[in-house]
Amino acid sequence: MRIYADNAATTRMSDTAISVMLDCMKNIYGNPSNQFYSVGQAAKDKLEECRAQIAAVINAEPREIIFTSGGSEADNQAILSAAEYGRRRGKTHIISTAFEHHAVLHTLKKLEKSGFTITLLPVHENGVVDVCELVAAMRDDTCLVTVMTVNNEIGTIQPIAEIGAVCRERGVFFHTDAVQAVGHLPIDVKAMQTDMLSASAHKFHGPKGVGFLYVKKGAPVYPLIEGGAQERGKRAGTENIPGIAAMTAALQESVDNMDSVKARLTPIRDHIIKGLSGIPHSALNGDPVSRVCGNVNFSFEGIEGESLLILLDQKGICASSGSACTSGSLDPSHVLLAIGREHGVAHGSLRLSLGDDATMEEADHIVDSVKEIVAHLRSFSPVWRDLQTGKREYIL
Ligand SMILES: *Cc1c(COP(=O)(O)O)cnc(C)c1O
Repeated sequence: MRIYADNAATTRMSDTAISVMLDCMKNIYGNPSNQFYSVGQAAKDKLEECRAQIAAVINAEPREIIFTSGGSEADNQAILSAAEYGRRRGKTHIISTAFEHHAVLHTLKKLEKSGFTITLLPVHENGVVDVCELVAAMRDDTCLVTVMTVNNEIGTIQPIAEIGAVCRERGVFFHTDAVQAVGHLPIDVKAMQTDMLSASAHKFHGPKGVGFLYVKKGAPVYPLIEGGAQERGKRAGTENIPGIAAMTAALQESVDNMDSVKARLTPIRDHIIKGLSGIPHSALNGDPVSRVCGNVNFSFEGIEGESLLILLDQKGICASSGSACTSGSLDPSHVLLAIGREHGVAHGSLRLSLGDDATMEEADHIVDSVKEIVAHLRSFSPVWRDLQTGKREYIL
């Protein structure tokens, strides 16, 4: 049995997206900027058809969609644009949260070095932002609020429409990194009252290296990449037509299947949560209700996440962890630290992000495997021995 349960890291392309991509590569090879011949015109038509379709899915207008190389670029462009606009008006305060994706946090760090003041809101034990705390953090010189729609590690859903309403009332730009939400939750940029929204194709069964940024008409947006006049001068570079077409097909498919996937996955997710809760000294990370249907994130005391992942792989299960090595840094996940997990506990964490086609049988296999491996790892863990002999106190 092979179970790919790391869909928050990336998804497999859908067959539809692959066939659209191949078809485009073979047949729609023109440069959309050269419309004096039909090959270029066909590419331009395809591009605009995709733009209109994506706009319709999120209740935007086609001219409000800028195609990018993915979520990271969209996040960078949104934040740097709003910051630049703010700076020109003497507004240099930005509000975000402690558990954003690094594409947001590192961009904010860069701005901080160039004179901006950044407030990172706490996200509490349940992994949800408190709108009252956001209101309290707002200042006269706040130029941007950026809060993710769904957290990529613990899957918690943020009160985006409420945040949007508060920002609009005060005339502050609001960006949301919706990379984990687009294709998974209904997105309506008008209802969310967001000015900017980032999305990435490879998180909803599209190809890697392509995404989009929604920018509300009239909101500021400056190019990160200078060059040609593509994307109305907001993003230079010949458009990635096969990627954009495949992303559009994948998004449409995800949206069409959204309700049925949610109905099917929710009980499977809850079954896994219930099963893993049976492991002593373990805890679910993030709110049990306000979370996307495919996300399970657990911490187990007395083990290392990397060892768990390696042994899970031997049982055919691909998952991820909030621990050091998997993220390529020495610190445990900033998301788990942000919800108040101790360093040691954060290291012993497991993220399962289910595929749309996950089954109850697979859920049982996951639960049985994790139980067995955690018990095995604890059997020779010095930390676990200290906990058992009372030398160290249990945290969970
Ligand atoms: C994956 C991800 C990104 C980055 O998207 P890329 O297309 O890989 O650059 C940004 N934000 C969140 C929440 C993500 O999950």
